[in-house]
Amino acid sequence: MTSADELKKRREKEALRIRTSLNRQRSVQHSNTKGGENTVAFVEERLCIGCDQCDIVCDDDAIELYKVDMRSPLMNVESNRKARIIRDACTGCRLCVLACPTDAITMIDR
Ligand code: SF4
Ligand code: SF4
Repeated sequence: MTSADELKKRREKEALRIRTSLNRQRSVQHSNTKGGENTVAFVEERLCIGCDQCDIVCDDDAIELYKVDMRSPLMNVESNRKARIIRDACTGCRLCVLACPTDAITMIDR
């Protein structure tokens, strides 16, 4: 069974992998994405699959996940997670936009 320490180490390793990958893409995508202190990230709930990637890369604790009921009767899962942005904590760095696999996050004006 996986211990809490092992899980923590795995999570840190995964965060490093994602960060390294993002840094590679960053120079290209960063310039195409609006960002900075006058912007804030916004999650379109419909597109969010609760994968946690945005939360892993956010250095500012500006993302939290909350539970929602599953809407599909075809899947045997009681609840799913969605991400939401804590507006005051968001610095507009755009990392979550680059990390999101479903393009659920956009940057909007504050
Ligand atoms: S833009 Fe940056 S600070 Fe804001 S939620 Fe995304 S990763 Fe966190
Ligand atoms: S990375 Fe995208 S899909 Fe995954 S939890 Fe964050 S907003 Fe949702």
